[in-house]
Order: sequence, then C-alpha cells, then structure tokens
Amino acid sequence: MSNPLPTIDARNPAGIDYELFLDCVHCGLCTSACPTYVELGDENDSPRGRIYLMRAVTDGRIALDAQVKGHLDLCLDCRACESACPSGVQYGKLIEPFRIHMDKTGVHGDGLGWFKRFLLFQVTPYGGRMRLALAPARFLQWTGLDWLFGKIGLFKLLPRTMRQFHDMLPPLGRHYGRLPEVLPAEGKRRARVALFTGCAGDAFFPATTVATARVLQKNGCDVWIPRAQVCCGALHYHSAKEGPAQAFARQNCAVFLGKPADGAGWDSVDAIIVNAAGCGAMLKDYGHLTQGMDCAEQGAVIARKAKDISEFLVDLGPIPPTHPIKMKAAYHDACHLCHGQQIRKQPRQLLEMIPGLELVPLHESEICCGAAGSYNITQPDMAERLGQRKAKNLLATGAAAVFTSNVGCLMQIGRYLRQHKPNLWIAHPVDALWASYTGTGPP
Ligand code: SF4
Ligand code: SF4
Repeated sequence: MSNPLPTIDARNPAGIDYELFLDCVHCGLCTSACPTYVELGDENDSPRGRIYLMRAVTDGRIALDAQVKGHLDLCLDCRACESACPSGVQYGKLIEPFRIHMDKTGVHGDGLGWFKRFLLFQVTPYGGRMRLALAPARFLQWTGLDWLFGKIGLFKLLPRTMRQFHDMLPPLGRHYGRLPEVLPAEGKRRARVALFTGCAGDAFFPATTVATARVLQKNGCDVWIPRAQVCCGALHYHSAKEGPAQAFARQNCAVFLGKPADGAGWDSVDAIIVNAAGCGAMLKDYGHLTQGMDCAEQGAVIARKAKDISEFLVDLGPIPPTHPIKMKAAYHDACHLCHGQQIRKQPRQLLEMIPGLELVPLHESEICCGAAGSYNITQPDMAERLGQRKAKNLLATGAAAVFTSNVGCLMQIGRYLRQHKPNLWIAHPVDALWASYTGTGPP
C-alpha cells in the first residue's frame, strides 16, 4: 500500500501548502524561460529542479545544505516560469515562503556582508536616507569629477561592493524636493488617484515621479501624494525578511485608505498608481502579505486598487501625445510587470501613441536583466552575465532609446549599456509620454 501524503504540519516547516508542489508535473516546459537555466544549463538551477529540491527538503529526503541553498538563492524570483508553465504552478508561492523559512532557521546565513546588509535594509527603503547617501555621488557627477576619476581609473581601487554601487548609478538629477500633497486634474476630472512614489526609485529617478504625477494630471486625475507613505516592503520581502515587510505594509494600509489632510470632498481613491513594477507587484500582493494581520482587510483593498501607471492610463483612455519624438526605441519587459502582473501590451500601447517613435522588437524581451530587486548586489556574478546578455540584445536592435518600467531594470540596463553606447536614452515609458506631451524631447 502506498504511503498517504503526510500532513502539511508534519512535512512543511516552511508553511507551504504541499498541494502547490504537486501542481508541477515535471514537463520541463519552463526551463527555456528561466534565466539561470538558460545561462548555466544545470537542472538544479531550473524551476523544475528548484521545485524538486524544495519538495525533497520538505519531505526530509535531502538536507538543506549549502549546495541546495546556493541553487535556491540563485533564483531571481522573476517568475518567468509561472508565465511559461501550462500547469499553473505558482512558483512564487513556493520560493518566497521557503526563503523565509531558510532565513528564520538561519541556515548558512544570508551571505551578505554588514555593508551590503546595511545599505539594503537600513538605507535603500528610506527615501530620505537614500537621497542623503546619494549626495556625494551627485556632487561628483555635477562637478565632472566622476568622469575624471573614471578616466584615470580611480574607481578601480574601490572595494568590489562600492565599485558595483558606483557602476549602477544613473545620471543623478536634482530632486524635486516636495510636491504639493494634492495636484488638481487638468480639465474635466476623470478620476481621483493616490500616487505611490516609492523609496529608492524616487531617489534615483525623481524626474520620473514628477512625470508620473504630471501625466496623471494631464489625463484628468486629481493626484494625492500621501506624505506618510513608506517603502512597499518588497526589498525586505524578497530577501526573506517578512516582519519588516509587514510593518511597511501596515503603515501603507493606514495611509492609503485615508484621505488628504485638506481632503474635503475626498472619499476613497479610485486607484493607487505605481510606476515601478517591483512595487506594483508587491502592493498587489498585500492581500497575501497581510494575511492574519490586523490590517488584512485593508491589505486586500490596497491589492485591488494598486495599478501600474500604464495599466491605469490604458483603461482610462489616454490623451494622445502630440509632439513627435523621432527615434527607434526598444522596450524591455520588467519581470514584475510581465510575469508578476501580466502587463505587456499597455506600456507598448502608450509608447506607440507617441508620434515618430518607432518601437522595434527586442529578442528575449522577457528574460530578466539581472536586477531582480537586490539580486545584482546579492548575486553579482549571475547578475553581470544577465546584464551583459540583455545589453547585447538591446544593442542588436539598433534603438536609440530603451524603455522599461522598473527602477532596478533602468539601473541594471543603464550600467551595461553605458559601457557600449553612453548616449542612449534609457528611461521609463512615462518619461517618454511626458516628453511628448510637453515637446521637451529626450534629455
Ligand atoms: S513548473 Fe510547470 S512547466 Fe515547469 S516542469 Fe513544473 S509543470 Fe512543467
Ligand atoms: S523565478 Fe525566474 S530564476 Fe527562479 S526558477 Fe523561475 S524562471 Fe528561474
């Protein structure tokens, strides 16, 4: 007689619904979509292999040793396997709790040094701290010293981690400071929305935050920018630190279900607009993240109302931009937009509305660029391989502009493209839309 399935409590210390493992029928149709398998050709670094490893550990058939953990850590959590899987395997629901379990049990540590840990968890998720940390880099860029130091090879003397951070830096524009809490719609009001500005994204690309707010106004939206909003929690959550991620979620639930300080006439907002794919996917997962918490109901509401800017505008019916931007452009699908939120057409639709802009196809558009939240910091070697691969595909398009809807992708792609073609315009689709509305063109 075959053994019955062990009970969940007995055999899933990671809190994973064991049925989720059984959805995988080992067909292997996901392997060619998996960036780490495509690079390494090792079954242990494929979705099928990782599911097998997690299940074998859960069953007690193999030990969670450093080698197994290494294969699981190398996963980008890009969820390309979910898009490719015909059996509907929910890979994210397996790897994320499993990583939290590995972190809780302290198996072999997180492999990060104190500096990376400090930067990732104490600086990056806090907009103000991040802006402060970027001030010296901004000064070097503005004065031209950054170019000079690069030319004489001074940055090569930096420790590897510092050099990585430096190489990822985009051209740092001046921060806008503080926008009014409420920006009124232009013309007839079509919607009332809240804008999620994020933490690192806003510090690195403040002009994109402003462009997002202005584009919404232009499209007839009253835009509320809540002052007390915080990081979405994705950086912590994807690093298996569930507690701090839940604390951020709790605060955002309280903030976004409120109303502006001077919000006479405001009821609840029609949508919460996000311009970073990673943050959007996290907010849409608040129902799951806040499960069992006192704010679970609010978490589910936030998850329903969160909308990527492109998704929202296409549903609303965007006002056509009129100023031409005559150039060839390529669009890279950010994993947390295409796989995490199944949004592929809408950013392209917005770009295609711009007169003169020719959108050219990109080979392997849905293969991760290697940014994946903090992956380019925690797994620099694989991140570099994927970054170079993406740059090669982008350069082959001959495009003069590259658009993508996530802060991490913008930095990662920028880092590797600048090595080959420093004058490419690398931006968010909403930057292009705003440039076409205003006739300001590429920078
Ligand atoms: S995850 Fe899906 S596609 Fe991959 S092996 Fe399992 S069933 Fe097949
Ligand atoms: S999440 Fe991405 S890297 Fe991880 S197994 Fe799936 S496709 Fe591969």
